[in-house]
Amino acid sequence: MKGVIMTDRPKLAYAVTENYENTGGIIFAKYAVVARREGASIWSDGDFGGVSCRRAKWADQCADTGIVPLWLMICHGWHFECMGCGRRIDEDLPSLWEGECRQDDPPREQVIARRRYRKWEVTDVIGTQHGACFCDQRCADEHEAHEAERKRRQDHAIAVFKAKVLERFPGIEFADNPAHLRPHAFATKSKGRWRVEQVSVDFTFPGMVHGPATYRWDARSYGRRRDQGAKPEKAHFGKNPQRMGPLTLEARAHALDVVLDVQTRARVDLINAEEEARIRELIAAKTFPNKWDGTEPRADVWLPYTIDGAGRVQTVMQLFGDQ
Ligand SMILES: [Zn+2]
Repeated sequence: MKGVIMTDRPKLAYAVTENYENTGGIIFAKYAVVARREGASIWSDGDFGGVSCRRAKWADQCADTGIVPLWLMICHGWHFECMGCGRRIDEDLPSLWEGECRQDDPPREQVIARRRYRKWEVTDVIGTQHGACFCDQRCADEHEAHEAERKRRQDHAIAVFKAKVLERFPGIEFADNPAHLRPHAFATKSKGRWRVEQVSVDFTFPGMVHGPATYRWDARSYGRRRDQGAKPEKAHFGKNPQRMGPLTLEARAHALDVVLDVQTRARVDLINAEEEARIRELIAAKTFPNKWDGTEPRADVWLPYTIDGAGRVQTVMQLFGDQ
């Protein structure tokens, strides 16, 4: 008997929201308790009492597909964040845009802006509750173009890195295994300027003993040091040496030994005598070769690199040559 009821009962729409942050969505279920349980697992780490569950009759029309367009949710008091421009999308979006218009903007821009906020309708919102959300087609298009440009810059950064490594070590092979090591880059745009924040390529080489080597650039980790008020050149010796690793100079000397050892045993050309002498000179002078002087790091400068082995060892990509 119970089974028959379960089968015949239609799924209904329930609005389930987390109690503190009020995040949530529409769940379709035959019983409120089922909707609540499902919502709790999504928005409240399974805490059944941490969510509210109420009927949302207006969304019953979407029960067949389970897909609720965002504009419909907005009409019923929900709001979202645009994945493109980051604005809050609700029915007040036009007044938000209107408030952003400036008299001193170029006339053409003002016309475009005015047309946008006057013509916008809630049905222009793009997205469903299970996907990306955009104010309108323009935001979606701009986002797509932005992501395409990001990918182009990232691919370019990887190509530049690969070319540099290949130039120095013609015999190497790049690791490009989706499940393990693969080239990686991250570019971001801030205040109208693109910046490559991270690039990393891994490669194997003849005579490899410890595993693939990495040529890596990470602007963000260095950015954090500056944010903490430490001058880069003092960061390794400053008031908080533990954080930055007090063994750096020793580690560099050690790394140099490792490289020379590999070079001897594998009979590959890693560094020549002149480079070795220069590196020892820099270590002796406690010079950090990162070319930091408080200005922004450059993506084409060889950078320190961390190996996890018996303790974290910081070695210096400068060993590969100062480009
Ligand atoms: Zn937007």
